Amino acid sequence: MNARTTAEWQAADAAHFLHPFTDFQSLAKKGSRVITKAHNIYLTDSDGHHILDAMSGLWCVNVGYGQEALVEAAARQMRELPFYNAFFQTATPPAIELAELLAQVTPPQFQHVFFSGSGSEGNDTIVRMVRRYWDLMGQPQRSVIISRHNAYHGSTMAGASLGGMSGMHAQGGLPIPGIVHIQQPYWYELGRSMSKDEFGLVAARWLEEKILAVGPENVAAFIGEPIQGAGGVIIPPTTYWPEIQRICDRHGILLVSDEVITGFGRTGQWFGCETMGFKPDLMTFAKGVTSGYVPLGGVMVGERVAKVLIETGGEFNHGYTYSGHPVACAVALANIQLIQDLKLVEHVRDDVGPYLAEQYAALREHPLVGDAESCGLMAALILVKDKTLGTPFPAELELGMVCRGHCFREGVIMRAVGDRMIIAPPLVITRAQIDEMMALIRRCLDLTLADAVRQGWMA
Ligand SMILES: *Cc1c(COP(=O)(O)O)cnc(C)c1O
Repeated sequence: MNARTTAEWQAADAAHFLHPFTDFQSLAKKGSRVITKAHNIYLTDSDGHHILDAMSGLWCVNVGYGQEALVEAAARQMRELPFYNAFFQTATPPAIELAELLAQVTPPQFQHVFFSGSGSEGNDTIVRMVRRYWDLMGQPQRSVIISRHNAYHGSTMAGASLGGMSGMHAQGGLPIPGIVHIQQPYWYELGRSMSKDEFGLVAARWLEEKILAVGPENVAAFIGEPIQGAGGVIIPPTTYWPEIQRICDRHGILLVSDEVITGFGRTGQWFGCETMGFKPDLMTFAKGVTSGYVPLGGVMVGERVAKVLIETGGEFNHGYTYSGHPVACAVALANIQLIQDLKLVEHVRDDVGPYLAEQYAALREHPLVGDAESCGLMAALILVKDKTLGTPFPAELELGMVCRGHCFREGVIMRAVGDRMIIAPPLVITRAQIDEMMALIRRCLDLTLADAVRQGWMA
């Protein structure tokens, strides 16, 4: 497998593999980084470099790499029954058992699940399901779904439409009809003249303004990530979500929590809605449900919606070949059991989450850092030109990318979203490994600062 050199891998990659969210031509010139193996929180590339993965792959490897229990579960299920569908009045044991276990670990309003193959597909299911619900309720005009700018809900037609990424909307005629957006609850950019708590209420009321503008009788649902992930780990003020809940309740609108990142322990509770204090009607999940070992996603369907679909719905004309894939479900079962056995949710809530929060608070002293914060094991810092005024660097300098380049070279994976540098390490990380990660992050910030000073970019 590993017989090729890095240059050979890169040549074949550039010749044939179109990567997601990638400028194909510029990557082909530079050459991909080829990751060949991993263990615990560390990756190895094709040159033998050792890299601390502070992003859990792509927000998903919650239990870390190399967990034999997941490998065994997949191998066992592949031998026993690699595939059977759930379409024609059939089911498989892993899908049934996973549905049962998900009903236990999710908040009590959730007793039913609809499986998909990914988070994007899960959000497609959300669109189909909330519109079907309102049809069955005799209010078919309730079809508008409200989301937020800079949200990420996936990359299918519906996922990208629900998302609020202008770059994605600009390609392919999105959003699809019936999806509108409000501003995100991003205090540092939009609310610094107010306290965080005041701003949280102001931002939530943007939802009510939009509902009134669209007409409450036309609004089906509001969808949001408890904490925006791909948008830059934007942690809303604590006042935000409870107020969103009150507004949705007042107008009878379904509340959807996209838990694809925040699910399965990431925030120090099983689900982000528990950390943020709200009670959704529907919940999308993916990523951490299998710790990324195999693809799986789905929608937790609260009793308000499930009851109507089950009792009055007849056939729901929707589903995927891989809805309830037995191998994916077997791996998810092993993954959730491991999260329980290792007490990873408690580990994040009581130990490494608070420890990371202290370390991030201390980063605010750094000359380049305008703000730094975390929730559980999601954290962000923002690089600014003048920290007292919060003046950003000109976007064309792409300082976040400069910093990310240092991270790669120093052996730590951080992601840059504009000038927000973000991390979401595996939940198995220890305090000693957080110390190691923070030393690397500080070194990268110092190197980025030195670049900015040398180039005359600092105030
Ligand atoms: C990653 C992500 C998705 C999309 O999941 P895919 O498995 O990539 O389709 C949806 N919502 C959120 C919040 C995500 O972070």
